[in-house]
Amino acid sequence: MRIDIVTIFPEFFSVLDVSLLGRARQQRLLDVEVHDLRDFTHDRHRTVDDTPYGGGAGMVMKPEPWGEALDAILDGTPEGTVMVVPSPAGRPFTQREARDLALAPRLVFTCGRYEGIDQRVIDHAATRPGVEVREVSLGDYVLNGGEVAAMAMIEAVGRLVPGVVGNPESLTEESHEDGLLEYPSYTKPSVWREHEVPPILLSGNHGAIEAWRREQQLERTRRVRPDLLPPATD
Ligand code: SAM
Repeated sequence: MRIDIVTIFPEFFSVLDVSLLGRARQQRLLDVEVHDLRDFTHDRHRTVDDTPYGGGAGMVMKPEPWGEALDAILDGTPEGTVMVVPSPAGRPFTQREARDLALAPRLVFTCGRYEGIDQRVIDHAATRPGVEVREVSLGDYVLNGGEVAAMAMIEAVGRLVPGVVGNPESLTEESHEDGLLEYPSYTKPSVWREHEVPPILLSGNHGAIEAWRREQQLERTRRVRPDLLPPATD
């Protein structure tokens, strides 16, 4: 999978050299390129923002550098390219969205700063051949910029690309994969600081362990995230 990131802080993405994603990059399972938006400016101060039309607080990212950057990245891009615009005003990012994005041949992340990117950049990108634009929110809170949101999405999507995580089974037994939260996990020793591992997990009875885990999933989801459960029918 090819991933492009446009940002005014390319150094944020040095963490993509670390751990599973770093190895996936070395193995060319993920081909990531980070672009500095300021390379597409033409003034001495490398300006990327200006005051908002209509007034109001803060600055807005200017369309011209974004337009040039996206021309360079998206002209001739393969059909099915998704431009992901991190935004608190986007639709919520979910495991389902991550699975869907993992099927795209190419993802382009546009990291906003200040009050965000001039809306025409997003509207224009949606008219480019082969490109689908999605405004996606990491959650109902406001970050300083799109970089942390893009990183979180790249990690969630990248681990679903075949070959990135060694054991594919570990991807299906996760929270949110079957609509529920995961059961609690334990490892050795069986007693630690007087806390015991639930005896059923030491029983060797695989059927009983599976049933216990399912019950734990349901109990945890009911307690922590009842909104994930289907509404009760009378
Ligand atoms: N004025 C914008 C609003 O109220 O919707 C918020 C701008 S925010 C300070 C700057 C940038 O951070 C946004 O353009 C976006 O790229 C990113 N950002 C902030 N919160 C986010 C979130 N919850 N999810 C995804 N991106 C976010």
